[in-house]
Amino acid sequence: MIAYYLDLFYNKPIMEKLHYANKKEYQAKLKTIQQGGAKNLHVVADFDYTLTKQFSKVNKINTAPGIIQESFLVPEGYRLGKREIYEQYRPLELSQSITGQAKAKLMVEWWGRAQKLAIKYNINRRLIKKVLLQNNLELRDGCGEFIKFLEKNKVPLLIFSAGMGDVIDIALTEMGLLSNNIFLAANFMELNKKGNVAGFSRPLIHSQNKSEALVRNLPAGRELDKRDNLILLGDIPEDVGMSEGIEHECILKIGFLNEEIEQRLPEYKKHFDLIIASDGSMEVVNGILQKVL
Ligand SMILES: [Mg+2]
Repeated sequence: MIAYYLDLFYNKPIMEKLHYANKKEYQAKLKTIQQGGAKNLHVVADFDYTLTKQFSKVNKINTAPGIIQESFLVPEGYRLGKREIYEQYRPLELSQSITGQAKAKLMVEWWGRAQKLAIKYNINRRLIKKVLLQNNLELRDGCGEFIKFLEKNKVPLLIFSAGMGDVIDIALTEMGLLSNNIFLAANFMELNKKGNVAGFSRPLIHSQNKSEALVRNLPAGRELDKRDNLILLGDIPEDVGMSEGIEHECILKIGFLNEEIEQRLPEYKKHFDLIIASDGSMEVVNGILQKVL
């Protein structure tokens, strides 16, 4: 009832928040995961707009790159440069007429230019920490419980991001949530003697190439490889690609559909087993975890 009145209050379209692609299949997957237990389970989650809220009342762009880009603590040249390339490449990223490989090439170009800007303007971890102390990222309600519950049950959580890993790492540390069951796959700064960024970790992770294949040969990959069942969380259909590269017995795919719900729901149902609409909380995910673990 509270949610209903809140929806009225914020004048959002009132929609049922949970949608299943196929409820029977969904229930069968839950059963498999439950039978496998905690020792056979791992969780993979996209970061921006999956673990964070899309519609934050605190931050203009509530994403790891956005929070830095929009802060007045960073040099103006960096802010303007980042916005300029965003406006140039974002339509190409969303374009339906550009195919996989061609799009991936453009994304590598975009990320390369963004990383050069970070180097040019001496972005560093001290600055990132300052920005986050002033305005930390807003996680979905219940995200802290989600991370702590996985930690308590020793279930690895792979957080995948095409953003700067340092931002996520510092943000979670500040919130007291960076536990040792978390593996972060993202682009990390390589620092020079002065502590400024001089380069970035490889392989480059961009919006089109997030997959477990990228971590297969890392310690994280070897740990995940032992666990057959996967709960995957994402906010765009491409996020389901994160499960590729490691074989799984069962993949339960949960999608957060934050906006344009009616138009996008049919497409989301093709990719996800369960869809949580309207930028909802982690409450449902936490309920699932408590049911199966
Ligand atoms: Mg996302």
